[in-house]
Amino acid sequence: SDEFKIVLGALELYDKTVAHAMTRYEDIFMLPDTLNLSADMVTQILDMGYTRIPIFENKGLGSNDDDIKNVIALLFVKDLALLDPADSHNVMKIASIYNHEVRRVLEDMPLRTMLEEFKRGEYHMALVERLVEQEDKDPIYELCGLITLEDIIEEIIQCE
Ligand code: ATP
Ligand code: ATP
Repeated sequence: SDEFKIVLGALELYDKTVAHAMTRYEDIFMLPDTLNLSADMVTQILDMGYTRIPIFENKGLGSNDDDIKNVIALLFVKDLALLDPADSHNVMKIASIYNHEVRRVLEDMPLRTMLEEFKRGEYHMALVERLVEQEDKDPIYELCGLITLEDIIEEIIQCE
């Protein structure tokens, strides 16, 4: 029955980690901090349908496309509502005005813990990072995904 599946799904939250449920890095819709928003671009961003959009540092010429992007801010789509469409607006400038906190969690955080965090209500999206060991150097944190409450709920109700 559906109820049985949901209970099983909820139980699995104890075994599963954030990495199981997250949207993976390559599927994250994000924007470069250097982007200037035209009316057209705002329309395109709205069409994507996301509420929260990570802004990454655009390192410019010479930087490798394969580089893992460094997220430095969050743009909430609702922040675009008051813009004068006649002007051009730098995306980072808008993000700085609202200054939404970028929350980060590790990929091996239990989903149960992530759910408790979201339930506290301070934030609804987190960037997911993994710890990468380096020889002779301190380990680095590398962005590997993004998680929201909806991802956890899906994990609960889609249990096979
Ligand atoms: P389910 O069947 O409930 O979806 P599963 O037991 O098949 O889960 P996995 O196959 O381990 O779980 O992973 C689920 C998804 O998460 C896969 O798409 C996998 O590629 C992705 N994934 C798991 N770990 C990572 C990771 N460290 N980085 C990126 N993606 C990951
Ligand atoms: P809301 O429903 O709160 O208005 P939303 O539709 O933007 O916001 P969620 O409903 O929280 O986002 O999540 C829906 C799915 O979209 C989840 O799988 C989540 O991981 C994914 N998601 C959210 N934001 C992004 C983004 N910027 N890029 C890619 N995937 C995202």
